[in-house]
Amino acid sequence: MHEMALMGDILQLVQEDAVGKGMDKIEKVELIVGEIANAMPDALRMAFDLLRDQNLHFFSVHAELVIHREEAKAICVLCGEKYKPEQKIALCPICHIPSGKVVAGETFQVLSYEGSNGR
Ligand SMILES: [Zn+2]
Repeated sequence: MHEMALMGDILQLVQEDAVGKGMDKIEKVELIVGEIANAMPDALRMAFDLLRDQNLHFFSVHAELVIHREEAKAICVLCGEKYKPEQKIALCPICHIPSGKVVAGETFQVLSYEGSNGR
């Protein structure tokens, strides 16, 4: 499950940034995950819970993961049709060829996080 590796990287980055800001407990992490990003929200939540429980020296027991879904959108470069692609290769519903350019839905990034300084 590659979501575990993804989440590990994210939490590492968050942790490094938080340490730089003098925080010592992470309370909340918010992510933007596109509908056709290569990551499943359920798997990300499972990975988050597991990694949090393994790192309670840095994560609050109640730390939560909030996932914001970004809707997938594509525009056909041939006919200009705007539509919702089912996957990264965007098949235009009018031209019936993969002429769509995906303009949203592939995002995978940290939106924000919250932490505190317990001392
Ligand atoms: Zn088209």
